[in-house]
Amino acid sequence: MTKNATVKTFATETKKILELFAKWLYRDKEIFLRELISNASDALDKLKIIGLEHPELYDQDESLKIQILVDKNAKTVTVKDNGIGMDFDEVVANLGTIARSGTTDFIEKMQDMPQNVDKGSLIGQFGVGFYSAFVVSDRVVVRTRRADKDAAEGVLWSSTGEQDYAIEKVQIESRGTEITMHLKEDAREFLESWRLRKIVTTYSDHIGFPICMLKEKAPDTEAENKEDEDAAKQVDAQPEEEVVNQASALWTLPKSKITDEEYENFYKQIGHDFNKPLAWSHNKVEGKFDYTSLLYIPGQAPFDLWNRDFKRGLKLYVQRVFILDDAENLLPSYLRFVKGLVDSNDLPLNVSREVLQSSETVDTIKSSCVKRILDLLEYMADSEPEKYAKFWETFGAVLKEGPAEDHLNKDRIVKLLRFASTKDQEKQTVSLQAYLDRMVDGQENIYYVTADSKDAALNSPHLELFQKRGIEVLVMHERIDEWLLSRLTDYEGKKLISISRGDIDLGDLGLDQAEKEAHEEAQKSFEDITKRIETVLTDRVKSVRVTERLTDSPSCVVADDDAMSENLKRMLKEAGQPVPDSKPILELNPRHPLVERLKVEQSDDHFADICDILLGQAILAEGGTLPNPSVFVKKLNALLVSP
Ligand code: ADP
Ligand code: MG
Repeated sequence: MTKNATVKTFATETKKILELFAKWLYRDKEIFLRELISNASDALDKLKIIGLEHPELYDQDESLKIQILVDKNAKTVTVKDNGIGMDFDEVVANLGTIARSGTTDFIEKMQDMPQNVDKGSLIGQFGVGFYSAFVVSDRVVVRTRRADKDAAEGVLWSSTGEQDYAIEKVQIESRGTEITMHLKEDAREFLESWRLRKIVTTYSDHIGFPICMLKEKAPDTEAENKEDEDAAKQVDAQPEEEVVNQASALWTLPKSKITDEEYENFYKQIGHDFNKPLAWSHNKVEGKFDYTSLLYIPGQAPFDLWNRDFKRGLKLYVQRVFILDDAENLLPSYLRFVKGLVDSNDLPLNVSREVLQSSETVDTIKSSCVKRILDLLEYMADSEPEKYAKFWETFGAVLKEGPAEDHLNKDRIVKLLRFASTKDQEKQTVSLQAYLDRMVDGQENIYYVTADSKDAALNSPHLELFQKRGIEVLVMHERIDEWLLSRLTDYEGKKLISISRGDIDLGDLGLDQAEKEAHEEAQKSFEDITKRIETVLTDRVKSVRVTERLTDSPSCVVADDDAMSENLKRMLKEAGQPVPDSKPILELNPRHPLVERLKVEQSDDHFADICDILLGQAILAEGGTLPNPSVFVKKLNALLVSP
């Protein structure tokens, strides 16, 4: 740096990130190399695209490559590319600030994470990879010149990664970027060439550009003949460079030539994930459209999967040239967990996001990607149930969006759904087919219960009769379930029916003759009482009736047949949506002492209090809330101490 350099302070967030990196990444230091190589490769890709229209930018240097240079004396490692480079303003914008929306999220997330969680995979997701250079460096120096600028427009940037950075314009003869890391004492291992080569082959083997390093000097051996000696001298004078990665796009190789390990490492590289993928599907399609897709199902969910601005989509390549990240038109939202790439031979190289939105080619590729993923999931569900269980646990809630989003594939998606049920309460393992296969004799419908939580669902008073009859009930307690159920009304000719709705007719499984008679009896003997309750609760219930569906609880609320379930109403309310005004039906267990007591209650006040309590507890049992809980508690206490 000369005295012409300007010193600028990092944006606050940058400082925080640098501190956190040092703390979190001490065990995963090596990712710095992957991140810098990935940036270099991006820069080469950009040059390639712009170079299509401006071939003069190549300026007689057409062999695009990345170099890794080690200087053991200076204790530096340099990553160099002859890609697009950066001008002054770009350096300030890209390396001095992190003006990305996710950054604050990122910091919060990093701070909240338990120590043992892998933070490395978070970095790539947030586009803060450059800063990982500071994990191994006391000082980072960047020399860069944009391909379309003059030599005088070069930029020199340097920083110790603490408070600020220095930046100045300098003369740089050739285009591209050179990032030099002055290694910290505890990172000197990266001066070893074999170490660097290992990292390159692990993470960056299939970067589409050659990564070059100097040839290792052979250990000193007696020269056997003069020719060899000469050759050795030659090497000493001008060390030879060699390519240390495969430099071929992995997806262009035939499947049989690719090992599982190579697939996995490639995923780690493009998915910015340290963990292995769960499964993948690699396909070459030739015909009307020519393209290759390589799709991965990750082993872990990215933490921001449920954020509104989650970046989904695949990497798009055209004839092996990288075009863009997160091409969201290639995948529907309910498959947003899928990572991978598509390489098309039919799209133009200058394709834009706008063009992608209305392209027949893209639509075709998209539906084929969907098909491949569904094939893969079906295969897992059939042949690798443990893997599928893991998948479901991680991404099931996302796939549940499918039936509403994708009409064409609805039937296939529905078969892939898994639910918890009264027979398997622990995890979501029950498919609709499995449910169907073990329905009890005479059962006509598929029954489910919805609530805010699994516990609330399993303790729903509505379940009592079904338990008694041995009828399995699906347990729905995720937010997405109500949405799903609004689209999923039947399966293989059987209706899906909420057990908390209206008058459920269990057909032959319902009441036997004796029970029917008892029910009619109860209806008659409670006729006056139910009318009286209706008057007391007139603002809060639609009607009151006795029921046979309860065995232990005194009361429950049910939605009118055509009304919205209480659970759905609650969700809408929480989401600030208008909720149609429909009152529930209060059902009473005629054999419960509290209900029987109504028959003999003399005091109007006591009668009203009991009605209030019967309604209140029915709402609470559904996971609902009461408008005035303290009044409810007071009445309950009064009842408990009353004779
Ligand atoms: P990301 O790569 O996800 O955008 P990084 O922190 O890795 O985030 O890099 C920040 C930005 O700095 C890049 O988007 C790019 O604009 C610029 N940059 C980094 N390295 C290079 C390079 N070798 N050549 C050109 N630009 C680069
Ligand atoms: Mg990067």
